Amino acid sequence: MRFPQNIFYGIKDKRIIEVINSIPREDFLPESLKDYAYADTALPIGSGQTISQPSLVAYMTQLLELTGRERVLEIGTGSGYQTAILAALAHEVYTIEIIRELHEEAKQALSKLGIGNVQYKLGSGYEGWEEYAPFDRIMVTAAPPEVPPKLVEQLKDKGRMVVPVGDRDQTQILKLIIKSGNTMIEEDKSFVRFVPMVE
Ligand code: SAH
Repeated sequence: MRFPQNIFYGIKDKRIIEVINSIPREDFLPESLKDYAYADTALPIGSGQTISQPSLVAYMTQLLELTGRERVLEIGTGSGYQTAILAALAHEVYTIEIIRELHEEAKQALSKLGIGNVQYKLGSGYEGWEEYAPFDRIMVTAAPPEVPPKLVEQLKDKGRMVVPVGDRDQTQILKLIIKSGNTMIEEDKSFVRFVPMVE
């Protein structure tokens, strides 16, 4: 075990805890911050971006209800830490990052760990990834002002999407969206603070 158990309060899916404890978070952090890898806090990863706090990574992952068979679209690769966790719990991950340097570093970090079931794209998450749509699950780890319509389009029927919605520099609401035919079931889950999803 790497993290103190109490950070997983409320996580009922034991596989998520096992996976998080099996992935070395220090591999996704800059050299100077590696000592803080197992503190339950968000940390800077360069280019003005942050790696999320592990308890929130666990919580957002749990909301996706992964069984191992899913194709997951992730927006905001960042360090690749959340990507690695999704890759361990789903069939295939398609991840999009807008900053080239982070996109390249994340690819390296994941390949170093031997994680192969991930496709990487440099570009804007607002467009989703048409070639591989629809997706069983979508996880967004930067905050758009509103739920991006293309992402809703690219979500399969009965699919689940987790997205923090809100304005820059303000508290955002973490939403769970479940597609059901032509309607959307939308649940507000918690208050969060992510970097903005840039246009
Ligand atoms: N999940 C990441 C943290 C992501 S931080 C981790 O585990 O490390 C949010 C990321 O979203 C940043 O890397 C930022 O560059 C990226 N981002 C912001 N706007 C975006 C957009 N429109 N499309 C794709 N990525 C975006």
